[in-house]
Amino acid sequence: MSAAVYETLPARVVFGAGSVARLAEETNHVGLRRILVLSTPTQHDLARRATAILGDRAVGVYERARMHVPLATVIDAVEVATELGADGCVAAGGGSTIGLAKALSLRAGLPYVALPTTYAGSEMTPVWGITEDSRKRTGRDRSVLPRAVIYDPELTATVPAAVAATSGLNAIAHAVEALYAPDSSPPVAAMAERGIRDLAEALPVLRTGASDGAARATALEGAWLCGACLGATTMGLHHKLCHVLGGMLDLPHAETHAVMLPHVAAFNLPAAPHAAAAVARALDAPVAVAALHKLVTELGAPTSLAELGVSRAQLRAIAEETLTAPYANPRPADLRDLTDLLEAAWSGTPA
Ligand code: NAD
Repeated sequence: MSAAVYETLPARVVFGAGSVARLAEETNHVGLRRILVLSTPTQHDLARRATAILGDRAVGVYERARMHVPLATVIDAVEVATELGADGCVAAGGGSTIGLAKALSLRAGLPYVALPTTYAGSEMTPVWGITEDSRKRTGRDRSVLPRAVIYDPELTATVPAAVAATSGLNAIAHAVEALYAPDSSPPVAAMAERGIRDLAEALPVLRTGASDGAARATALEGAWLCGACLGATTMGLHHKLCHVLGGMLDLPHAETHAVMLPHVAAFNLPAAPHAAAAVARALDAPVAVAALHKLVTELGAPTSLAELGVSRAQLRAIAEETLTAPYANPRPADLRDLTDLLEAAWSGTPA
C-alpha cells in the first residue's frame, strides 16, 4: 500500500433472517415516534407488514416510490409526511424506495430506517439522486444515510429473479470500481473482494428459483459489502457511463449496469492489475473480464445495449456527453475509446 485516506461512514446494521421483527425497536432507538412507511406500489404487502410491526408509531404509508426518484414524487411525499406530522420514515424496498427516503432526508430533514429488499446496496452510500425534467441530479451528503439498516434475507424471498440478478450485478460494479478508485484502501479492497465473491456465489443459486435461505443471506451480505465500497470511494468510468446512459436515454438502472460491467472492466482492468487480480480471485477464475461476461450471461441478465432499446446512432452522443464532465479512472478514455467501448456493449460482443 502506498498511501490512503479512509473514513468510516456511520452505519448501524442489524443482519439476520427474521430481523424485520426488530423494526419497532430500531426505530425507537433512533427516536422516531411518527413514522411514514415508504414503498413502491408492488411492495404493498411489505409496507403493510412494516406498519403492523410499528403499531401506533406508523402514521401512514406512502406507496408511490418510483425508479429514479422523480422530483414530483419527492414533493408529493414531503406534503404527505408534513400533513401526517411524520418525524421519520421506514424505507421498505429496493434502491428506488431507499432513494425516495434519501430525498426526504435531504429536503425535509426526515431520518429513516432502511429495510432493503434487493441487492443494489444504496442504503450503504451517502449518494442521493433526484430526477427533474429528464435530468437526474446526484450528490453526496452524509445526512441521507439511514440511521439503521435491517438486512433481513427473508424479505428478499419475493424479489423477481431478474431484479435479484441485475441489482446484484449493480452491486458487483460498485465493488469493481472501488478496487481501482483513487481513494481505495485496504478495508475497501477486502470488502470488495468478499462482496463480489458472495454475490457471484449466491446469485446463480437464486437464479434457479431455489428457495435457499443461505444463498439469500450470502447475496445480501454481498450487497452490504459492495454498497459500503461505493459509499467509501469515488466512482469511475463505469458509473459515469451508466449515469449518462440512464439520464439521456432513460434506460433501466440495474440492467444498464449489468450490460456495461464486463465492457468497462475490459477497458479498465488492464490498467489496474491489482483490481483485476482481486476480481479474478473473487470469481475463482483465471481471467476477471471473461468471468464477468460469463456471470452476466449465466444470470440471464441483458448483455447488450441493443437489447435495452439503444440504437447504434445514439452511441456517439453518449460518448461525447461522458467526456464533458471529469471522473476518476485508472485509464484515460478519449472519444474513440468510449465509442469503441460503447459499440462493444451495444452489440454485446465479449471483449
Ligand atoms: P428497485 O428498487 O427499482 O426495484 C425494482 C422493482 O422490484 C420494483 O418494482 C420493486 O418494488 C420490486 N421489488 C424490489 N424488491 C422486491 C422484493 N423483495 N419483492 C418483490 N418485489 C420487489 O430496484 P433496485 O435495483 O434495487 O434499485 C434501482 C434504483 O436504485 C435506481 O434508481 C438507482 O439509481 C438506485 N441506486 C442508488 C444507489 C446509491 O448509492 N444512491 C446505488 C444503487 C442503486
